[in-house]
Amino acid sequence: MANRIAVIGGGASGLIAAIAAAEDSDNQITVYESGDRVGRKILATGNGRCNMTNINADVENYHGKNPKFILGARNKFWVNETLEFFSDLGIEVNVEEDGKVYPYSNQASAVLDVLRFKIDELDNIKIINSFEVKSVSKTKECFNIVSYDGRKEKADKIIVATGGKAAPNLGSKGVGYEILKSFGHKITSLSPSLVQIKTETDVVKKLKGIKLDAEVTLGDNSEFGEVLFTEYGLSGPAVFSLSSRLGDNKVISLDIMSKYSYEQLYERILQRIALRPKITLENFFVGMFNKRVGQALMKSVGIEPLSRYALTLNEKEISRICSAIKKWDFKVTGTMSWNNAQVTKGGAVTGEFNPNTMESKLVNGLFASGEVLDIDGDCGGYNLQWAWSSGYLAGVNAGK
Ligand SMILES: Cc1cc2nc3c(=O)[nH]c(=O)nc-3n(C[C@H](O)[C@H](O)[C@H](O)COP(=O)(O)OP(=O)(O)OC[C@H]3O[C@@H](n4cnc5c(N)ncnc54)[C@H](O)[C@@H]3O)c2cc1C
Repeated sequence: MANRIAVIGGGASGLIAAIAAAEDSDNQITVYESGDRVGRKILATGNGRCNMTNINADVENYHGKNPKFILGARNKFWVNETLEFFSDLGIEVNVEEDGKVYPYSNQASAVLDVLRFKIDELDNIKIINSFEVKSVSKTKECFNIVSYDGRKEKADKIIVATGGKAAPNLGSKGVGYEILKSFGHKITSLSPSLVQIKTETDVVKKLKGIKLDAEVTLGDNSEFGEVLFTEYGLSGPAVFSLSSRLGDNKVISLDIMSKYSYEQLYERILQRIALRPKITLENFFVGMFNKRVGQALMKSVGIEPLSRYALTLNEKEISRICSAIKKWDFKVTGTMSWNNAQVTKGGAVTGEFNPNTMESKLVNGLFASGEVLDIDGDCGGYNLQWAWSSGYLAGVNAGK
């Protein structure tokens, strides 16, 4: 039987859902997109290159109350199927460090273009731009969709693919949660993820603009990479990536000399003192770290004044310096806002959806996919993979 299927949101998840529901069927699909064109966020992904998936994607890369919810999708339409899907649309890919997959052309626009070409080829998908869905209700016969400007539409099945609250300038402002709530679905608490971390600012502010390589630790998780000190806290790829695992952790630590053990470092510092006993502490770390980093680090462990000679450092002070180099702690005060975040942590409670179909367990014919659900991934292509997989499953099953 042919269905009228309404896809709310023309992002990664909604577009693939529409294609999956339309292919080889008489279904009539309409994508309602609040923006003046679909796929704006896809264009911004991966710094315009679109890190479209990750060949290592698995359950440990996902977060939420029940990350195992992804297993339904992993077993049915996961990385290989996604790559095959895009290959059939004409996308060649490159696999880069850590399994990150990009289109060979390095253009996010290529990913959106091929989805659009496919939609144009299928004559049973209609896209309505500038249609911001305000509410959806259900009668015995169908779902009724109402836009903010009062337009009314009907559908037999609904796929909520509105995204979350991250990067609202690219369209996702959180209306999807209200739509799902109106059907009795519960929404967890929501917070920005893949975002810069705010810390107490007394030290970081003074080092604003300085970058260094460090092993960054947050709770049980560590990542090596570039760290940038900012006015409000810490940024850079390693910090950004670990933010998905922030949880209740209140301290973020940097090991700014991770190639040395504590003992080796202690030895190096003794050698430096022997080399230049009369250098002031102000210049002691020149050649090892950025000079200002060295100064801030010593002050943070109470070693002052910096006009002292290196030879005045006693054993306890050297220990304190080494400990701080290996574990420089910054008190976490929060994260930057939704405007800076790439994804939403939290969302519609997954226990209320069927992991194999993405259909609501509360309302027949209602589906949800992508970021609106309580699943968020690490940095590295995992979030788009979730959007593709859950969208595809929602589309195929709504189309049945
Ligand atoms: C700057 C940036 C870079 C990123 N880079 C990557 C990356 O390289 N790799 C990766 O895996 N992930 C990346 N992500 C995350 C990834 O883009 C998202 O997780 C993914 O796009 C979510 O897909 P979605 O379809 O669920 O939501 P979205 O892509 O947000 O799409 C939702 C769509 O619904 C529309 N919409 C919302 N509300 C309504 C409404 N009420 N009515 C009608 N339409 C509505 C929106 O306008 C939007 O087009 C990035 C995110 C950002 C912000």
